[in-house]
Amino acid sequence: MNVYTPIRQRREPQPTLLSIVVPAFNEEATLDALVQRVSSVMGELKQRYELIFVNDGSTDMTLPSLMRIQQERPEVGIVNLSRNFGKEIALTAGLDYASGDAVVVLDADLQDPPELIPVFLDYWRQGFDVVYGQRISRAGETWFKKKSAEWFYAIMARLGPVEMPQNAGDFRLMSDRVVFALRQLPEQHRFMKGLFAWVGFPQKAVPYHRDPRHAGKTKWNYWKLWNFSLEGLTSYTTAPLRAATYIGLSVALCAFLYGLWIVFKTILLGDPVQGFPTVVTAILFLGGLQLIGLGLIGEYLGRVFNETKRRPLYFVERFEKPKEIGSQTEWQDRQSTVSQIRQLP
Ligand code: UDP
Ligand code: MG
Repeated sequence: MNVYTPIRQRREPQPTLLSIVVPAFNEEATLDALVQRVSSVMGELKQRYELIFVNDGSTDMTLPSLMRIQQERPEVGIVNLSRNFGKEIALTAGLDYASGDAVVVLDADLQDPPELIPVFLDYWRQGFDVVYGQRISRAGETWFKKKSAEWFYAIMARLGPVEMPQNAGDFRLMSDRVVFALRQLPEQHRFMKGLFAWVGFPQKAVPYHRDPRHAGKTKWNYWKLWNFSLEGLTSYTTAPLRAATYIGLSVALCAFLYGLWIVFKTILLGDPVQGFPTVVTAILFLGGLQLIGLGLIGEYLGRVFNETKRRPLYFVERFEKPKEIGSQTEWQDRQSTVSQIRQLP
């Protein structure tokens, strides 16, 4: 496989084009406010930019609103996915279609303040390839959600192959070579935060306060979050598979010692054989452990199964190129400078 990454030693004072990628699933209520805020920030910076919305199969008025906004604003582009693929895939599609020399990922609900982008760009100018927002507070989220997120990332940090920054979301700026690297990762099970960490390159954290949602409601409930964590864990590390071995070893050791104790008791103390409850408990306990182990293997096997199908990650129903990027050739040029891995229609 081609592992060449375009080298950029010296950064221009500004990207010639900044891409802002926004996955949107039923976000009709926040779109106008988002476009407003982004455009005032970019206006102050005098930065040429494109705002790529990925409509992730919304069932509300998100797409019509986007089409209306796109008529009025030359910088807005739309990638309309054929159905709801979930945020991670929507983000992937956005990164595939972005053509800037730096790409910012932003949530549609304005939880990530666009006002931070100038700070991101400062670090980009200094040569950092990834500048990510690190939440120091998360307003409008429950205690349990914050705590569980904290635990999850602590566990992942221990088990994963590379350290994943804590309290970082998807809100970040990436240089073109990082985007290029991400496009080379073909996996179906995409845990973006894991992939971001895995590709490496000089990274910089920028602390910020995460705002509550501007409007609408979160797409996550606890069951979805649990599945997301499982997805994250199993697509990012195989450590749990090894855990089964160690649990098995320690249970076997305990059983052996317990066996010795019974022999000792019977021979030396002349204790008659008892222990129906012990037998039942031991059987149930071991049965449980075995089932957990099987389930775990199943999780990984299922993922292997899905990966071997080698399906495309998503389908695009239509792509509306930002008018800002004048011609088809400019878009193709831009796309090929961050060289194209996935074939786009
Ligand atoms: N999102 C998406 N597809 C989905 C779910 C969410 O594109 O299936 C987008 C959503 O529109 C938003 C971002 O992902 O821009 C984050 O979603 P949300 O605000 O619901 O998550 P939270 O901020 O609560 O973690
Ligand atoms: Mg949100």
